[in-house]
Amino acid sequence: MKKIIIAIDGYSSSGKSTMAKALARQIGYRYIDSGAMYRAVTLYAMRHNFILADSTVDTQNLLSRLDDIKIDFAVTPQGQHTLLNGEDVEREIRTIEVSNHVSPIAAIPQVRYALTAMQKAFGADKGIVMDGRDIGTAVFPDAELKIFVNAPAATRAQRRFKEMREAGNNTVTYEEVLENVETRDHIDRTREVSPLRKADDAIELDNSGMTIAEQDQWLLQQYKRVVGQ
Ligand code: C5P
Repeated sequence: MKKIIIAIDGYSSSGKSTMAKALARQIGYRYIDSGAMYRAVTLYAMRHNFILADSTVDTQNLLSRLDDIKIDFAVTPQGQHTLLNGEDVEREIRTIEVSNHVSPIAAIPQVRYALTAMQKAFGADKGIVMDGRDIGTAVFPDAELKIFVNAPAATRAQRRFKEMREAGNNTVTYEEVLENVETRDHIDRTREVSPLRKADDAIELDNSGMTIAEQDQWLLQQYKRVVGQ
């Protein structure tokens, strides 16, 4: 069976990782969460005090250390975990603090160039499902299957809030999550380098009225159609 590249883009907390992971598992492809890579760079910047008190980024110092930042993924019994210079940072990169700082970091052109190069390398042998904001437009413009996922901001924030509570975060509020989702959407859509947008040849999915099982089924059908199964 021919191996393809599947690019799943969309707005924050639109459920793209859930469906991307499920499809990868089902068809035996590698899954890469490109957002986790931007989150890992953000965590690195926070730890090194490259994010200033007024939330602006000390871009010059961050860029001077970019070559020191190594990101990889480990497969664990709990799923795929993100490694920052060998350290498992999966839990830490999902905090609201990282979410609040990630979009300005992801808007820095040199950060995007570095991570895009790593992402392209992950897809060199195809057989990959990658999710993010610019996978179908900038990372793999020739991907055989491109999906663009969206749902209203309130629906997405509600899902994310529930997920964070279930993961043991008892302090975050729904309003905080909604504000974060809306702010990230805005920064992601309006940045200069590879802004969030639907690729012309991507299939759009509004999954607000769908169950997880329904969206997984829908995505599997799209895959089968493309590979001719
Ligand atoms: O997917 P996730 O919400 O974890 O991504 C975190 C942030 O990383 C996004 O809000 C966006 O700013 C950035 N990102 C990006 N390009 C990607 C993936 C994520 O700019 N391909």
